[in-house]
Amino acid sequence: MILNKQMEDKSYNNNTRVRFAPSPTGFLHIGSARTAFFNWLFAQKSNGKFILRIEDTDIARHQENTVNLIMNSLKWLGINWDEGPDVGGDYGPYRQSMRINIYKEYAQKLLNEKKAYLCFCSPEVLKKKKEVALKADKFYRYDRKCLKLSRKDINQNLNKGIDYVIRFLVPDNKIINFNDTVYGQISIDTKIIEDFIIVRSNGLATYNYSAVIDDILMKITHVIRGEDHLSNTPKQILIYNALNTKPPSFTHLPMILGQDGTKLSKRHGSISIESYKDEGFLPEAVLNYLALLGWSYGEKTTIFSKDDLIKKFNLNSINKKPAKFDYSKLLWLNGHYIRNSDNEILKELIKERMLKNINFKSDDTLIKSTENLDEKLDKIIPLIKERPKTLQECDSLISPFFFKIKYSTEIINYFKNKEISATKILNGAINSLSGPIVNSEDIEKNLRLLSEKLDVSFRKIAELIRIAIWASKVSPPLFGTIEILGKELTLERLKNYKNLL
Ligand code: GLU
Repeated sequence: MILNKQMEDKSYNNNTRVRFAPSPTGFLHIGSARTAFFNWLFAQKSNGKFILRIEDTDIARHQENTVNLIMNSLKWLGINWDEGPDVGGDYGPYRQSMRINIYKEYAQKLLNEKKAYLCFCSPEVLKKKKEVALKADKFYRYDRKCLKLSRKDINQNLNKGIDYVIRFLVPDNKIINFNDTVYGQISIDTKIIEDFIIVRSNGLATYNYSAVIDDILMKITHVIRGEDHLSNTPKQILIYNALNTKPPSFTHLPMILGQDGTKLSKRHGSISIESYKDEGFLPEAVLNYLALLGWSYGEKTTIFSKDDLIKKFNLNSINKKPAKFDYSKLLWLNGHYIRNSDNEILKELIKERMLKNINFKSDDTLIKSTENLDEKLDKIIPLIKERPKTLQECDSLISPFFFKIKYSTEIINYFKNKEISATKILNGAINSLSGPIVNSEDIEKNLRLLSEKLDVSFRKIAELIRIAIWASKVSPPLFGTIEILGKELTLERLKNYKNLL
């Protein structure tokens, strides 16, 4: 039903062109990733095109490596683009730093048509004027001093080499109306907008101007971006009007806040996609979680595959209320995706992380090459995959299979002053595990017999053995762990622990 309605909606058609336009000032933030993903989903749904544009005009703030960082994070998430700096396309270049002449050309057109003008006022003078207005509690906007300059004045200033900017001439007495998919009908009176700068004194275009030029030339039909740009939209619409082009449709996504209601920041946990990758989140889980930030489909559904989302995603169901970032929900989702991962895929992910860190030559490493690694992981993965919520947790959960264990003081003293005789139990366990054992069932059977023989609860015996072979109070399921660890290593660890008591 809903799908049919969407089909009829004329915003879904294959001329749809959307873009994600990050300024490469750092890593890909969780909020920007959501923006990219909603654009991508909308493009998939509409059979349209998703464009990646790098907004790097503000050269000083940009670092080349952050462009790669952003592109790699997008790729990791599986958000691929149809046109972009690396893949090209019909409307490139897709980096603003390579489009400077295009911005100049359109600025000249606006100047020629008297829709923009040169302003020679120095930043210091403007700052003073602003301070005076603020002190007198008056609304400040640029007083258009330079709009009154004659051609002769302008030429004189240019000959003297005085720095200038290009300002857009905001039409007087106009109401700018637009409809935002999320925020509804918005009307702004031009009297509160000053003649804003479109080209800075260093010749570089400002965001509000360059973004519009690009959106026009790249034939963008829908602008979907963060709510922080809602206030820029009226200025951008003025530029569309000045260039006699129809503005695209606008959708501003609600802010993402932390659980405490303040702007999402590092205090609330990791906020870069890169760190989620390092911490062992799966891209499917992160994407699923991103989709839930400000968008919902029915009350209860929370698990969505990418294909589900493409079918169900709908700009009209975006919630105006700021979304609250819930790390524990993301963690829970990640656990779900780990549990439901194909074992082969999970193995490759775990192996990749291991190989990055393992030193086969180290004395602490129990395996000396990659030779039997796959075989071992094939056994380990089904045993452990129910529990961990991240791959990082998988790493530590399986580490004692591959590395020597170290007993902390807490672990050494754990059975001190407890009524059970740890040494006696360990001797019993060493004895009963020394016999012919084939699999985890045998192991369990033998240990249950030991529990009866010593009249010690099975739970206590299991706890002691776990601590002895894993140097930790948590391990993967015990009998399977012993089976994979093998008789030799199990006995060695039981003896080592006993000797420490
Ligand atoms: N470069 C802007 C940003 O990163 C893009 C805003 C837009 O999508 O128009 O916030």
